[in-house]
Amino acid sequence: MNEHFYEDEEYAFESRKKNSGRLNARVLVLNQSYEALSICSVKKALTLLFLGKAEMTSFDNRKVIRSISREFPWPSVIRLKKYVSVPYKQVILTRRNVLKRDGYKCVYCGRGDLPLTVDHIIPKARGGMDTWENLICACTKCNNKKGNRTPHEADMKMLHKAYEPNHIMFIKNSVSKIDENWKPYLFVNEITDYPQ
Ligand SMILES: [Zn+2]
Repeated sequence: MNEHFYEDEEYAFESRKKNSGRLNARVLVLNQSYEALSICSVKKALTLLFLGKAEMTSFDNRKVIRSISREFPWPSVIRLKKYVSVPYKQVILTRRNVLKRDGYKCVYCGRGDLPLTVDHIIPKARGGMDTWENLICACTKCNNKKGNRTPHEADMKMLHKAYEPNHIMFIKNSVSKIDENWKPYLFVNEITDYPQ
């Protein structure tokens, strides 16, 4: 792929005007370390590419950006050329954020259509703490079934582990559908143990 495409700013501005609606589509921005950093619009991604501040990591081959005489690959993932140090804010531990982290689905049965509660994996009465690692989204049915037992004692399998969420969770939640090209960068630290 020819990265010098993006140095031609005149073409870029032309195509921006013509495709202004589509250029609001989302692009995943990676830090220089390949860590997912944020998302931006295609327009913003093109600017970073033109200015030489980022390089194209993946593009969407079903779409192109057209100018009068040329076509440009449609960016899907870009990577910053310089490392950016970002002090991420911690996500506050609340009932709502636990449900949000778990995608509003019961971690034991996977259902999202029943009333949801926050379950202590190790029950509170047995020393379980209010921490990200000990709180999980559970439907009322599973929560009642589990009672004052650990998942192991109740013979209930968890579909994923409880973890402290970070900015990646918010990247995932801010788009309705995650681009296939984004997945290698968004699911690296997660245990996905969903039954087939
Ligand atoms: Zn359940």
